[in-house]
Amino acid sequence: MRFCIGIDLHGTLLDKEWKIKAELEQKLIQTLQHLKNFSKIYICSGNDLVFVNQYLSEEVRACFDGYILETGCVISDKKHEKAIVQNEVIKKIKDLEIFLKNKQHKEVKYFARRLATISMFTQHEGKGDDPKSFFEKIKKEIAESRWANDVYVTHSDVAVDIIPRCHNKFTGLFNIAKGLPTIGIADSLNDLHLLKDAEYGFIPGNASPILLYTLNNQGKQIYSLKNFNGQKGIYQSKCDHTQGVVEILQSLKEKL
Ligand SMILES: [Mg+2]
Repeated sequence: MRFCIGIDLHGTLLDKEWKIKAELEQKLIQTLQHLKNFSKIYICSGNDLVFVNQYLSEEVRACFDGYILETGCVISDKKHEKAIVQNEVIKKIKDLEIFLKNKQHKEVKYFARRLATISMFTQHEGKGDDPKSFFEKIKKEIAESRWANDVYVTHSDVAVDIIPRCHNKFTGLFNIAKGLPTIGIADSLNDLHLLKDAEYGFIPGNASPILLYTLNNQGKQIYSLKNFNGQKGIYQSKCDHTQGVVEILQSLKEKL
């Protein structure tokens, strides 16, 4: 094995309706199967095992070695979930979740099932609000709470997530990679570490402006995928979502 690849779901592998279009699925499967010959490939998501099983077909799931779930806090062999966060931290998260549920924020469509994090969805299958302004509100609320030193707030393109400090998608992927160079493919602010700390970062065309802004602000340059020649760095595809992932995987196949 030469690489360990982590691919995000919402806003990356899945389109706006949380689907992989039928006409793209076979192309995606073929490319993943080829990369599997020399890479470990993981889903790297803020979601849980139930979600992965619900939104990815059996054929697509078969292309992956396992899943890094709940923004790097849970590892799955595709059958079971194992939280890699300390029990006392999980207890604090559960107290915070009750606190937030009692607030009854109107922006929240639902709290998703989580073992070690909190996910407040503002969207469901393309309907609902962008989580960006709710993210700012929650960030302020947490900063003023007794949990301020225990967690950080981030968001995908569908939900505001609260994550125990020191955990992120990159730490989850790094844990699994066992020394292999890492490759992150993702679109949102909750993927920041996955993109900037991995050896290679790839972003679909639809990436969130706040992610691009934050990467730039931290001195990271984003190159066009068409200039990718096997050099380490962060690259953005022309196409969006699944089509963008296929474009990125094809480049990996040709250039690595
Ligand atoms: Mg995403």
